[in-house]
Amino acid sequence: MGTQKLPVYAGENWNRRLQQIIDVLNTKPSPKFVQPRTNLLQLIDEWQKSGDLNRMKFPQDCPSLWQMQAEIRVFLSPTSSRRAYVTWAYGPRKRAWTAWDHAASWFIQLITNPECERLGGPCPRCGKYFVRAGAKEKTYCSRECASVSSALESTKLRRAKEHADRLLRAENAIKRYRNNTGRWESWKDCVTASEPDISKKFLTRAVNSGELSAPQQRR
Ligand SMILES: [Zn+2]
Repeated sequence: MGTQKLPVYAGENWNRRLQQIIDVLNTKPSPKFVQPRTNLLQLIDEWQKSGDLNRMKFPQDCPSLWQMQAEIRVFLSPTSSRRAYVTWAYGPRKRAWTAWDHAASWFIQLITNPECERLGGPCPRCGKYFVRAGAKEKTYCSRECASVSSALESTKLRRAKEHADRLLRAENAIKRYRNNTGRWESWKDCVTASEPDISKKFLTRAVNSGELSAPQQRR
């Protein structure tokens, strides 16, 4: 027998199905789907936090798993070989779809996917969801986002070090101001004369934030 063309809805390509959910999460929705997507994000957030479906907290107004189950229909799909597929679809029959129904239908697609543990995100830098290689935690969506973030981190660290260094040098200059007899208009003039990279504005701010204590003005 040659290769069988499987019915589309019977697809068992779990990676592709996972990617479909990720596309919903990452793509700006049309106006009609803004609320459903917001609801889905909320559901997924609770799902990621819980780690256990039985204990998952469902958002207010969202149908519970059992209410979702009540709206699922099952289909039997024969193929031209000996196999048949059991497929299903979520959808309320006796009422109009709500935003939560759309969210629920995506959510069920996700949680019934054997690869669902590989959903990663949102990335702290770009906000995107992504597929992880395994269930192992991965914070950033890509090497690029991770390296930009670590560059930002080291910039923050460098700035903090520079700030601490300026404070220390300012304190030392203030000590000299207290002890020597040089004639200065103000203690700030004394500090900025010996530490040219320290501005008076920096000193004012440091005093206001309590990081530096201003000496008494000398006559
Ligand atoms: Zn990212």
